[in-house]
Amino acid sequence: MTINQNQIAVVGAGTMGAGIAQVSVQAGMDTILYDISQEFVERGLSRIRGFIQRNREKGKLSKEEEGEMLSRLRGSLKLDDFRESSIVIEAAPEKLELKRDLFRQLDAICVVETLLATNTSSLSVTAVAGATRHPERVLGMHFFNPPPLMALVEIIQGEQTGDATIQRALDISRRLGKTPVCAKDTPGFIVNRVARAFYTEALRILGEGDVQPKTIDNILKGAGGFPMGPFELMDLIGIDINLAVTESLYSGFFQEPRFRPSSIQQRMVLSGNLGRKTGRGFYTYGKN
Ligand code: NAD
Repeated sequence: MTINQNQIAVVGAGTMGAGIAQVSVQAGMDTILYDISQEFVERGLSRIRGFIQRNREKGKLSKEEEGEMLSRLRGSLKLDDFRESSIVIEAAPEKLELKRDLFRQLDAICVVETLLATNTSSLSVTAVAGATRHPERVLGMHFFNPPPLMALVEIIQGEQTGDATIQRALDISRRLGKTPVCAKDTPGFIVNRVARAFYTEALRILGEGDVQPKTIDNILKGAGGFPMGPFELMDLIGIDINLAVTESLYSGFFQEPRFRPSSIQQRMVLSGNLGRKTGRGFYTYGKN
């Protein structure tokens, strides 16, 4: 059996998975979007369909192009559907055991030519690959939020990732219209490691009292030139995801104090205020 070079499969139809699937259909690839329930699959698909429809309404796409894109997109509740995909990109929650379990299953299902990529923000690609019999085909492919707008993709080579796997992943990233950059398999890779201070220091200032998130965001945008402030960005990323990344770096660097997670963030996660996706985080959001 050979792979279908035009087919990309995405695991997890949440913030990142739906965005990556959108990038994939827009690049002309046949795209399968998987999640653990029909409701989650439908939520991801309707988000993508909504974007495509709005692009047609704005005149960026013709009716035919819209129809063609939509015909390339389908949902799935079965990992078995990925058997012949050229690459599976996993965007499930940031939990090592969950990802290892998924990769164990994908490794058993997919033909050996299929690349298996994790979109992890901070977990060890080597540890994910260690759950498979073919770690040479496992790599990190770290997209940024929102995937349709962000050009950068970090391509991460685990201890056992093959050079040919990296070359193919670089080609696929370019085919998706992205700018790939190779990174080592160290906690947080490049961007999330450098960006940690942006969040953790802002949270420390907030914890010391008196200064509101809006003030800190405005200072960093107005005077610092950042397009978004740290609190706006944490709300966009998801407070749970952002906390999981910090925890992972903290443990990956052997409890290095500068990466220590914040109890403010921990309380927000426990209370279910996860940012834009729940309508409430450091800010409150309307229905849309
Ligand atoms: P999310 O919570 O929005 O989506 C996760 C999706 O995975 C949900 O739809 C959920 O139903 C699904 N899921 C749960 N259990 C599953 C399982 N066992 N198998 C398959 N799917 C399952 O999370 P997200 O923000 O899209 O993050 C996904 C991954 O992408 C994480 O590893 C995260 O670190 C990484 N990432 C996130 C961002 C960001 O800004 N949010 C940026 C880059 C990378």
